[in-house]
Amino acid sequence: MCVFCKIVNGDIPSHKIYEDDDFIAILDIAQSTIGHALIITKKHYDNVFALPEETAGKLGALAVKLANHINGVLGAGNMNLLNNAGPLAGQTVNHFHLHLIPRYENDGMIIKFDNNKLTEAEFNDLRAKLEITKK
Ligand SMILES: [Zn+2]
Repeated sequence: MCVFCKIVNGDIPSHKIYEDDDFIAILDIAQSTIGHALIITKKHYDNVFALPEETAGKLGALAVKLANHINGVLGAGNMNLLNNAGPLAGQTVNHFHLHLIPRYENDGMIIKFDNNKLTEAEFNDLRAKLEITKK
């Protein structure tokens, strides 16, 4: 059983701040910034690619609720909502979880986005590959 399944089951203690039928939210043991929390599915899904869309919908609503709650209590006013899916994306526990990371002035945390330049033709080719229609 994975470490997050053990936390969900209560076999490993955690600092739980929320629970419903589908999710728990806990304070991350490694506080990247003060208030860093994780929303964890109660059921084991390896990552976002395995998450049912219905669960994802509930997750989205909960993420907004908890983001506002955490910001309201801690007064950060800024937050990263972050999911790592797969080892190249930095996933270290293979059980779906969403990071809520409040951001503060000079908090020392760095998230870097590269700025790769594509030509218009490259953009059009990529868009044609990725475009999907709503079901
Ligand atoms: Zn698990």
